[in-house]
Amino acid sequence: MKAAVLRAFNQPLEWQEVTTPSPEPDEALVKVMACGIDGTDLKLLDGFGYTPELPFVMGHEVAGVVTEAGYRVTGFEEGDRVIVYNFTTCGACFACLSNREQICVNMGGVLGAKDRSGGYAEYVAVPARQLVRLPDQVSWPDGAVCCDAGMTAFHAMERARLRLGETVLIVGVGGVGSMAVQLAKAAGARVLAVELSQSKREWARQIGADALLDPGDVALPDAVRDLTRGIGVDCVIDIVGQTGTMAAGIDSLRHGGRMVIVGYTPDHYPVEGKYLAQNELEILGTRAGRKQDLIQVAGLMASGKIRSIVTQTFPMENANEALAVLRSGENLGRIVLLTPAGRRSLDTAA
Ligand SMILES: [Zn+2]
Repeated sequence: MKAAVLRAFNQPLEWQEVTTPSPEPDEALVKVMACGIDGTDLKLLDGFGYTPELPFVMGHEVAGVVTEAGYRVTGFEEGDRVIVYNFTTCGACFACLSNREQICVNMGGVLGAKDRSGGYAEYVAVPARQLVRLPDQVSWPDGAVCCDAGMTAFHAMERARLRLGETVLIVGVGGVGSMAVQLAKAAGARVLAVELSQSKREWARQIGADALLDPGDVALPDAVRDLTRGIGVDCVIDIVGQTGTMAAGIDSLRHGGRMVIVGYTPDHYPVEGKYLAQNELEILGTRAGRKQDLIQVAGLMASGKIRSIVTQTFPMENANEALAVLRSGENLGRIVLLTPAGRRSLDTAA
């Protein structure tokens, strides 16, 4: 098979022939149709964050078709349309046993990021228990981006405990933010979206945001209070995680509000204990999502309640070009790579 291989950090990927993986008895071989790309891939490429042993194949937003199943696999067979849950978890620790497997204390591999070869390839072998059925109504690119952008946003909403009629401030409208805006609207919330980029603010409006804020232009907490009769928002979803966004987010909360940290950088933010205590604020972390979150978001995509966030596709052979566009920060929503098989399948469908 062919794959876009990371041979050296800070160097372009190389589209080349590699050995097609053979599935273990409990694994399935998936013919990749589409694979999303995101900031995690840029960090991998730069040698920050996860630093896998090289050569390595990235790609953690995979949609495809099962072409082979190991003899211990039940429930999936050749021809099934699937998407892949990224985490190989232990299934036995307190986190796994309390349905929070994304914070498993014995985390094994992470598809396309740590110890498990990913979806920038024509085929990928994955443990069958990480497979999720992709509803027929969902296209390959839309299915792929459910695996991280969709699942992460869905889980953040779960952590946020967002309720009908609440107002939420969403900071950062990239891939995860594009899903978060739509999910918050679907949950019946009023959405205020914060973006530095004019084109992303316009995009946020198109996908349903009720008000747009430019942090370069306004003092955020004041602007938020102007839009909320002086009260502040019920909830902030911070997908950026810089000192400035955390500070502005906490200052924008109403009494009793919840701050949900999705994105992060090496930045710190000192919080005064008295301010948290006296205002009964909650600060919540959220990491990716559970397999159940992935199933739910794929179902929402199938129902038409959320629209596609895929604005650009590239042939997987041109992964370097796609990553350069991503790095420019100018793309809207998500960029997806299509394998030759994925392109043929979409052409046939169209
Ligand atoms: Zn575990």
